[in-house]
Amino acid sequence: MKSTKLILLIMLLGIGLAGKAQTSKIQAIHYQTGKPVTVEISGEQISKIKPGGKANVSNFYVAPGLIDLQINGYMGIDYSDQNLSPEAFQKSAEALWQLGVTTFLPTVITASQESLLKSFSLLMVACANSKVAPSIPGFHLEGPFISPEKGFRGAHLEKYIRKASWNEFEALQKVANNKISLITLAPEAEGALSFIKKCKNAGVIVSLGHHNGNAEQIEKAAEAGASLSTHLGNGCANLIDRHNNPIWPQLSDDRLSISVIADGFHLNRQEVRTFYKAKGIDRTILVSDALDLAGMPPGEYIRGERKVLLTPDVVKFPEENVLAGAASPISACVTNMMRFTGCSLAEAIQMASTNPARLMKWTDRGEIAAGKRADLILFTLENGKMVIQKTIVAGKVVYEKR
Ligand SMILES: [Zn+2]
Repeated sequence: MKSTKLILLIMLLGIGLAGKAQTSKIQAIHYQTGKPVTVEISGEQISKIKPGGKANVSNFYVAPGLIDLQINGYMGIDYSDQNLSPEAFQKSAEALWQLGVTTFLPTVITASQESLLKSFSLLMVACANSKVAPSIPGFHLEGPFISPEKGFRGAHLEKYIRKASWNEFEALQKVANNKISLITLAPEAEGALSFIKKCKNAGVIVSLGHHNGNAEQIEKAAEAGASLSTHLGNGCANLIDRHNNPIWPQLSDDRLSISVIADGFHLNRQEVRTFYKAKGIDRTILVSDALDLAGMPPGEYIRGERKVLLTPDVVKFPEENVLAGAASPISACVTNMMRFTGCSLAEAIQMASTNPARLMKWTDRGEIAAGKRADLILFTLENGKMVIQKTIVAGKVVYEKR
C-alpha cells in the first residue's frame, strides 16, 4: 500500500514538472524607454516585464524581433527556385535570424501559374520543418495581377502578367493551404475590385503595387479593402505626370499604409522623409524586398529568365533599366530610417516590427508585452548599425553571437 502511494506521488510530481514551462530571463535596455528592464520568458511566451536589471547590460538593447513582409530569398537561396529544398530554406532562415528577423513572408513574384503552384508546394514542404515554422506565418504573392506597362511592372516579366483571377488564386491557396496572407496587385487590373473584396472576406491582406492606377481606381481599391501600398515609389515608371500619378493618391489616403525600401537606393532620403512625414509612424512599414542575391559577391547572375546585376548595394535589371530588388537586410533599413528621417530607435523598430504585425493582424507578436510570443532580439548599436547579439523565436534561442 505504501509503495503504491509513493509511486502515485512520483507520478504526480512528474506530471507537475512536465506541465511547467521552462522559464528564463533577459536583462537589457528597453528599446523604447532606454532604461534597464528584465523580461521573463515562460515557454513560448513573455510572462513578465519588470523595470530594472543588471548594470553590465548597459549597451545591450532588447526589442521585439523584426518582421519582414517582403523578402524573395537570402544568401543565394531563392524562394521561387523550382528546386527549393527544405535544407536550403532552413539555411536562409538561419541567416535571417542572425540579422534579427524573427518573422518573414517568403515572397514569390509574377510567374506562370504552373511555376507559382510549384513554388508554393515547395515552400509548404520547407515550412513544415518545426524549427522554421514559427517564423513563417504565411507567404506574400507579389503579382501576377499587376500592370504590364514598362516601368510600372519593374522587373516582373511581362509575358506572365495577367488579369485578376480568383480561380487561379484559389488554386494557389489550395496548394499553399491558405497561407498566402498578403497579395500585391494593381487596382486597375481587370477584375481587381471584386478580387480585393473576395480577399477581404477570406482574410487575405491586399496591397497595391506595380501599378499605374489613377486616383479613382486607388480610391475604389481602398474602399474595397486594400490596406497597403507595396514599396511606394518603386514599381513605378521613372518619368510620371506631376499631377496625375499613382503616388499622390496613395500617399494622401489614410486607409493605405505604405511599405518602403529604405536601403538608400530604391528611394532617396528626401523621398523616404516625405513619405514618412505624410504617412506618419503608424502607417509606415519597412521591408527589405531583398533578393536571394543579398549577402552574395557582386556580379552578373541569372535569376529565372532574367539576367540581373548585383552591385555592392542593390540588384539591377539592366535590360529594363530598373532595379530588380534590394541587397540590404531589414536591420540595415532600421538604422537607415533613423538617419534619413531623424526618427528614434523605438520608432524605427515600430516600423519594422509592430506595424507589420498590426497590418497582418498577428496579435501574438511585434511588441514586448506579457502574453505576447517571446520573439525578441538583443542587439548593440555599433557605428550606426544594429549588431544582433541574440535572437529568440517563440521562446527559443535561434541565434547567439560568439
Ligand atoms: Zn516589387
